[in-house]
Amino acid sequence: MIPAEVQQPLLADTPLPPAGLRIAVVGAGSSGLLLALILQHQGHRVSLFERSPQLRTEGCGILLVKSGVEAIAAAAIPGLLNDLLAGGHPVQRFVFRNLRGDLIEASPAEREAGDLPSLLIHRRAILDALWRHLDPACFHGDHALVDWCQNDEGVHARFSEGREWTGDLLVGADGIFSQVAPLLCPERRLRYLGDRVWRGVVADGSFCRDGDFFVYARGRGIYANFFDLGSDAEGRELTHWGFFQEEELPEDRDRRRQLLDEGVPADALAKLPADAAAIIAATPPQCVVANWSFDIDPLRALAGGRVALIGDAAHAMSSSQARGMTAGLEDAVALAARLAPGAATSLGQALQAYEQERLPVVHRYQERSRQVSHRTGRKRPPGSRPSGGGST
Ligand SMILES: Cc1cc2nc3c(=O)[nH]c(=O)nc-3n(C[C@H](O)[C@H](O)[C@H](O)COP(=O)(O)OP(=O)(O)OC[C@H]3O[C@@H](n4cnc5c(N)ncnc54)[C@H](O)[C@@H]3O)c2cc1C
Repeated sequence: MIPAEVQQPLLADTPLPPAGLRIAVVGAGSSGLLLALILQHQGHRVSLFERSPQLRTEGCGILLVKSGVEAIAAAAIPGLLNDLLAGGHPVQRFVFRNLRGDLIEASPAEREAGDLPSLLIHRRAILDALWRHLDPACFHGDHALVDWCQNDEGVHARFSEGREWTGDLLVGADGIFSQVAPLLCPERRLRYLGDRVWRGVVADGSFCRDGDFFVYARGRGIYANFFDLGSDAEGRELTHWGFFQEEELPEDRDRRRQLLDEGVPADALAKLPADAAAIIAATPPQCVVANWSFDIDPLRALAGGRVALIGDAAHAMSSSQARGMTAGLEDAVALAARLAPGAATSLGQALQAYEQERLPVVHRYQERSRQVSHRTGRKRPPGSRPSGGGST
């Protein structure tokens, strides 16, 4: 096998066999699940490897913008779009306030007649909808990818506890801390965007209602948003919130992890109007997730030889434009379209076409998200120095 670092020039000209390719998708987040699902429907032999024992459905609310919902529609899996639409509800209004609670601007969410909506939806509802349509026999939990290598004959992946897989194509859908991507793009670095971020979901139906999305403009080192998440299975009304606090990234990784176990500090929360702060304070700790905010620089390539990247593995970006999940769903649809029976004469041609289609699009998303993050973000951005961070 050829070491991963020198794989770039190798282009797999494997003809696309009528019996389908043997494809490993690494990572069962929204990008990996959608890709595995479409490839299964196309007749490929798909293995979906996930580090966790089961799907990781933790997380909070997502604003899935219209193009993300359109990507689900374009996947053309019978019933999937309806399941997604039933799990969320359309955003109706954006309201911007300052930290005193004064109104800056309120505008209805624009939607042409016949357009699909942008959705406010729990991440779990998206994963559940995708999972319901997948043949679960392809799912292999407790499989953390350790490394991979490839040659003209195939691609070989090694997982934790010595488990192995060999096939035609390996897709890295393993998120911002990807193990697949650095071997394909050794230049890939995480960049710290300057915030510690908490997100939570709380039972409340009075603060945000009827598809409202509230933003508290950044000031005094914080930024916050809230949105209506509709009702859960028991009929409880839910609100999602996100709270961003400007902070230096601790050098020490244990200290980083330790800080993520702590709730929003009381002095930071006190900078919000009392009604907004009360929503955050009322959230049970088990309904809160925290992370340090990172993005990555645009990559030179999304594919090399028999390996391709999708989702955050390929283009993790700041949440300032709410494009991250949408971009991963679009990648999945685009890659699957290139691998569909009859779409290309060889695997190399299919991957090249995927990269040519998606690279300019995701670079635009990444640049725009970073610009907006720096413009509306912390006043002293942490600069262009790589974070040195490979973990939360
Ligand atoms: C604060 C915040 C707010 C956000 N808000 C929005 C929003 O409103 N709208 C939006 O569109 N996006 C938003 N995003 C971005 C969005 O959440 C991500 O872009 C999206 O979830 C990425 O999906 P993914 O499937 O590519 O990766 P992930 O969801 O990270 O999935 C990767 C999977 O790979 C698995 N994995 C990791 N390493 C390995 C390994 N070595 N072996 C096997 N499996 C592995 C993980 O366990 C995980 O299941 C937000 C992000 C943040 C941080």
